[in-house]
Amino acid sequence: MGFVRGRLKVNIVKILLNKAIIPHIFILTCITLAFLASCMAAPTATAQPTTQPEPAPVVQKCTVRGIVFHDYNGNGVKDGQEPGIHNAKINFRYWSDTTDSDGAYEIIMPPGVYALSVSPPSNTLFTQGFEFISYSTAEYKETRFSPNIEVSENMSHDIGLIQGFLTLPFGTDTKFLPEYPLGILHFVDRKGEAGEKIDWQGGERTYDGHDGTDFFMEEYTPILAAAPGTVIEWPLPYNINAKNVVLIQHERYGWTKKGDVYDVDFDIVTAYGHMHKATVKPGDKVKRGDVIGLSGKSDIYVPLPGRSGLNMPYDGKHLHFSVYLVKSLTPMNINWTDPYQSIVTVEKRSINLWTKFNDPQYPK
Ligand SMILES: [Zn+2]
Repeated sequence: MGFVRGRLKVNIVKILLNKAIIPHIFILTCITLAFLASCMAAPTATAQPTTQPEPAPVVQKCTVRGIVFHDYNGNGVKDGQEPGIHNAKINFRYWSDTTDSDGAYEIIMPPGVYALSVSPPSNTLFTQGFEFISYSTAEYKETRFSPNIEVSENMSHDIGLIQGFLTLPFGTDTKFLPEYPLGILHFVDRKGEAGEKIDWQGGERTYDGHDGTDFFMEEYTPILAAAPGTVIEWPLPYNINAKNVVLIQHERYGWTKKGDVYDVDFDIVTAYGHMHKATVKPGDKVKRGDVIGLSGKSDIYVPLPGRSGLNMPYDGKHLHFSVYLVKSLTPMNINWTDPYQSIVTVEKRSINLWTKFNDPQYPK
């Protein structure tokens, strides 16, 4: 048996040493190794990302604090006498808070860009009165728009709400006709019919067909932009009731409301008539309160036949201030409005186009 065993070993060695077989084994081995390598390579490649640890989520929070306030002068900054607004709802998208009695809010949220919306309080006299947010003297928007606010760190963000968007087009030191508030002798005539006249208070402090408000003031009084906008040339052959006029186009405004739906938009243009001199030109951007020129006087300062009630003191020295609603240019759809006309009525009080310091909305 030992012999046989020895012979077998010899035979195997011989076979292995056979030059014809060794290349076959070598080739088979190579193919096998290549196959195994290809099988292992594919899963290794796809599995690679899972083998690397994902970056840990950055749990970073930002605190946004601010005051929601009644921006009397529409400059976007909380000044001393401007009170906070209690119970206003603030939303940075779905992060929200309600203001306390000082108008303060505080919201903690992750960094991001959020649509900011503000709901004025529903339990005060001025429920629906805050029609606008004033960002600065250069910009205001209707409260129904939601600006995007980037939150990347702890920050302060005050929010100024205004009711009307107009501030008076002259300084507080302006000298007026003494016996009338703000020097107003002529309001807008709100009667469409010829020969009839009525002012916004139901009286007759106007004259027939008057499309603006006359502020009687000394000549060369600095005249200010009543809201941010762009100076334009009047694009229409429209009978504006003033000479030497400066025109400023403002935010397009959803004027007509049916319930909560705004169905008509207007461009709003303010007009400053009988100017002695304009210091701005068409195309200029103006901020609220920018000087746009100096007041002058009108040619007409005596009552005219057919214009009942026209009464011009001071030899016609005054500013004629008009507000136009421009729905479209073609076809022409343009009208004037009375800035003392209410946008909405809240508990029987009119909230008109003026901001806080434009009486009689806020009797002293
Ligand atoms: Zn006038």
